[in-house]
Amino acid sequence: MIAVLRIGHRIDRDKRITTHVALVARAFGADAIFITTKDEKIKKNIQSVCDRFGGNFQIETGLDAKKIIKLWRGTIIHLTMYGMDLEKAVAQINTNRDLLIIVGAEKVPPYFYEIADINVSVGNQPHSEVAALALFLDRYTKTAWQRKDFHGNIQIIPCVNAKKVLSKGSP
Ligand code: SAM
Repeated sequence: MIAVLRIGHRIDRDKRITTHVALVARAFGADAIFITTKDEKIKKNIQSVCDRFGGNFQIETGLDAKKIIKLWRGTIIHLTMYGMDLEKAVAQINTNRDLLIIVGAEKVPPYFYEIADINVSVGNQPHSEVAALALFLDRYTKTAWQRKDFHGNIQIIPCVNAKKVLSKGSP
């Protein structure tokens, strides 16, 4: 199981970014996202994507980060520009264990740096939790996310010069 823990989401400022974090988590191989702020709108949006495009992705909001971390039995990493180099970190993570990936929004309290088994950097420049999560999952899954079949009601047929979509129920 791979889960993402999104901390510090501010409903007004971060709604699009947190939605993108959830979409990237789902598309790039995570099984769940836990968002500490209660936000029913994001939950509904992501569940609607899952209903149409498939997969068993789980989304919960309004959860206590410290409780999730306490109950977590696998590895915990925190994505931060101050962390260990991505390649080195990925080589150290045991892929047979569950993985919790913490991503921030505003300033991340020291607790999360200390509780993580590894603080992982995707380069040492400040950028985005969306980019950091995408690159991390790509390297961690060794690109396996690309071959995942979501068995959705809507399926995209890759096409060079048109939009080809298969919808269940349509001829
Ligand atoms: N100012 C915040 C701080 O000091 O922690 C960081 C804000 S940044 C826009 C939001 C999140 O993006 C961070 O908490 C981190 O999870 C992720 N992030 C940004 N740059 C990163 C990098 N170079 N490597 C890994 N994660 C990064």
